[in-house]
Amino acid sequence: MFKTGETILEIDLEALAHNYHHLRSRAAANVKFMAVVKAYAYGNEASTLAKKLSSLGVDYFAVAYTDEGVALREKGIEEPILVLHPQSANFERIIDHCLEPSIYSRFVLNEFVKTATGKAQTDYPVHLKLNTGLNRLGFAEDDMEFLLDTLQQTNTIKLKGIFSHLAASEDWREREFTLKQLDRFRKMTYHLVETIKYKPLLHLCNTSGIINYPEAHFDMVRSGIGLYGFGNDPELDKQLKPIGTLKTLISQIHHLDKGETVGYNRAFKAKEKIKMATLPLGHADGINRQYGNEKAGVWVNGNYAPIIGNVCMDMLMINITGIDCEEGDEVIIFGEPQHATDFAKKGNTISYELITGISQRVKRKFINEN
Ligand SMILES: *Cc1c(COP(=O)(O)O)cnc(C)c1O
Repeated sequence: MFKTGETILEIDLEALAHNYHHLRSRAAANVKFMAVVKAYAYGNEASTLAKKLSSLGVDYFAVAYTDEGVALREKGIEEPILVLHPQSANFERIIDHCLEPSIYSRFVLNEFVKTATGKAQTDYPVHLKLNTGLNRLGFAEDDMEFLLDTLQQTNTIKLKGIFSHLAASEDWREREFTLKQLDRFRKMTYHLVETIKYKPLLHLCNTSGIINYPEAHFDMVRSGIGLYGFGNDPELDKQLKPIGTLKTLISQIHHLDKGETVGYNRAFKAKEKIKMATLPLGHADGINRQYGNEKAGVWVNGNYAPIIGNVCMDMLMINITGIDCEEGDEVIIFGEPQHATDFAKKGNTISYELITGISQRVKRKFINEN
């Protein structure tokens, strides 16, 4: 039987390379590829993964917040890095670390120009974010005149990119809406590019957009979840390899009689004699309470073992009745044979939330590094 020793998130760099090559092959060779490594590369670990992606030829990186970009620079990442959601308090740091901010509102535009002017910048590269229907961040159509006026009055910044984000690229029922977003993006960028008279990088598609809207790849595509092995679609899932396997081990085994209970609030009551195990992993590690009370389960020596009772902060308990196992044996939470998408579904959530939630106290271990 396998032994793990402690709870680890095992990250397969060969699977990352496989996913990158697959997604890369779905876009034309002249389309640039931006790897989205925000939120610790979706809960994995950002700098080792970014270095691997850089060695594979990724053109660009994106993070959500400024500090994530600074951390990559401090680890030696030299490719351009787009900060998707910066705040004005970060603008000095952005410039000091050669990060490229997303400019998404009039306030952000004015403040960034102010900071960049104060630091004697010219043609500082920024990406303009357009709101084409997601209604999260970005300029609207009626901001265009203001934008063009501001851009023409300053040489402090230069548009390196213009981008927008799709609301439902994975959802075929929303195809009509998505096509409207494509159309709006084309119109707004056409107007901008006509007036500024140079051509920034246009980028719109996330992972599902790369697959479902090949006509909308423009100059660059942005992929996050696909790189980590999830496709939002059973067909694409078959082409990709999840890079993460969350493993733990059996700390202790107990034999309970009928009527005995397990854990806080005595949420599980044994209806018969059972054998159960306690694992060193809980909601503080990212396996939240929604997975408890037999909603989800884990794999022990090739057998499914439901989580019983309430998930605790640092532990959870499983029913291992009839399973041949002993203390110290390896337990798989997600990874082969349980796809993280399926585990997430049992907790009424999606792979994105599950994997980004694996907390920093879980050790990351890299395999297939070359
Ligand atoms: C997170 C994010 C992405 C990546 O999306 P995936 O579905 O993970 O590929 C792309 N663009 C923007 C603006 C994002 O916020």
